[in-house]
Amino acid sequence: MDKDDLWRAVLAQLQFQISPANFATWLKNTYIVSRKDGQLVVSVPNNFSREWLENKYNKAIFHILRAIDHDIKEVKYTVERAAQSATKQAPQKQTISIRAMENSSGQLDLREARIDRATNLNPRYTFESFVVGPFNELAHAASLAIVKEPGTIYNPFFIYGGVGLGKTHLLQAVGNQITKDFPDKKIRYMTSERFTSEVVAAIRNHSVDNFRGLYRDLDILIIDDIQFLAGKEKTQEELFHTFNALYEKGHQIIFSSDRPPKSIPALEERLRSRFEGGMIADVSAPDFETRLAILKTKIQNRSLTIDDDVCEYLASNIQRNIRELEGALNRLFAFYRLNHKAPSLTEAKSLLKSVIQTPSKQISSKKVIQLVAEFYDMQEKDLIAASRKKEIVRPRQVAMYIMREELKHSYPLIGKKFGGKDHTTAIYACEKIQKEVQESEILADEINIIKQRMYSG
Ligand code: ADP
Ligand code: MG
Repeated sequence: MDKDDLWRAVLAQLQFQISPANFATWLKNTYIVSRKDGQLVVSVPNNFSREWLENKYNKAIFHILRAIDHDIKEVKYTVERAAQSATKQAPQKQTISIRAMENSSGQLDLREARIDRATNLNPRYTFESFVVGPFNELAHAASLAIVKEPGTIYNPFFIYGGVGLGKTHLLQAVGNQITKDFPDKKIRYMTSERFTSEVVAAIRNHSVDNFRGLYRDLDILIIDDIQFLAGKEKTQEELFHTFNALYEKGHQIIFSSDRPPKSIPALEERLRSRFEGGMIADVSAPDFETRLAILKTKIQNRSLTIDDDVCEYLASNIQRNIRELEGALNRLFAFYRLNHKAPSLTEAKSLLKSVIQTPSKQISSKKVIQLVAEFYDMQEKDLIAASRKKEIVRPRQVAMYIMREELKHSYPLIGKKFGGKDHTTAIYACEKIQKEVQESEILADEINIIKQRMYSG
């Protein structure tokens, strides 16, 4: 078998083990460069693919290769220089055009409308359309494990991370996949707001028993954006009892939140400790390569062609979350529909002018104060005032720290923004938080979430 046939055979089998999105991301433009003394060298388009193949897929690839050819002892991955410089020299001409996949835009729109009324699941969110990278790998792996054996391994499962990073997508992909693999299981997906309003309605209509019956009968309960339960005591109480009833039966419970359970204010301790008793995974912001991979997958799903330099422009300028990336891409799609052609880089830049801005310029100290107050569930005016209460001092110090780190404000200016405090107060605050961030993962997480919102909001 010559090396091209060999690689084709490997790809053909790998396709069954890897989601189409990941397949397109990591294995496109790979080929065997050489085969000598049992050593096989595979060319990959960039370092990121190389790492990913080495760490994630090497075992599978090797296994398939050995089954075809017993003499193969080792597989190496290399980034071909020639391929790299070729893309650098002529980026304009490079386009991605990939065969049509079954979910073209028309069908996608149709499917959007078909949210299942019993489960509340939107069939658009699947594992196939989910791109995996280092930033969401753990959450993705845990989700896949849950789909195989709901209720047994990771229960409850708690995903957290900033807005637009794929939490809802993953949660719903789990639900959709279980619906497919276990048609008899009763699943329900809901947002925490909807759960709250159902609790309120049940109390008002004296139908609490009904409500409990409905929920405790579920095999899988998924509640999205659990942070909105903060301070809603009655709802938390119902959730606690529902949780216990399901958990005892070994039924799967899945939650998402914009922050870890520890950082949700006004969450009952007993509920918090339940959340912490299971698997907790976070999703963070995607790196450049994955942003590019996500864009390309979405373009490919629509069977469209958009220049590589346009994709790279998007991926390098829209960094904070995937929802924004999609929003920008949708503008390009709209242009495509109207003009029957892909936008050029210049056209793309002008289409996206309002979306792409240099982040540090648009963020004001006022915004920082607003976000910090919102995050710690307190009033902005308390943050600025003179109070020395511990629960106020700490968020204030966090706000000062962020102004220093992200906005590069001077200490006197920071003092001024907080009701005319002395610059030594600002210095003390920034140094204190700086030190604590090193020691406390919770605090580091909190600050990351606030920053994330700052740049995405
Ligand atoms: P969150 O719930 O964390 O705010 P969503 O799940 O709503 O974020 O994701 C925002 C958008 O980005 C959705 O349209 C989703 O399909 C898309 N998206 C998020 N993560 C991925 C991913 N890893 N691969 C492909 N699309 C993604
Ligand atoms: Mg969401």
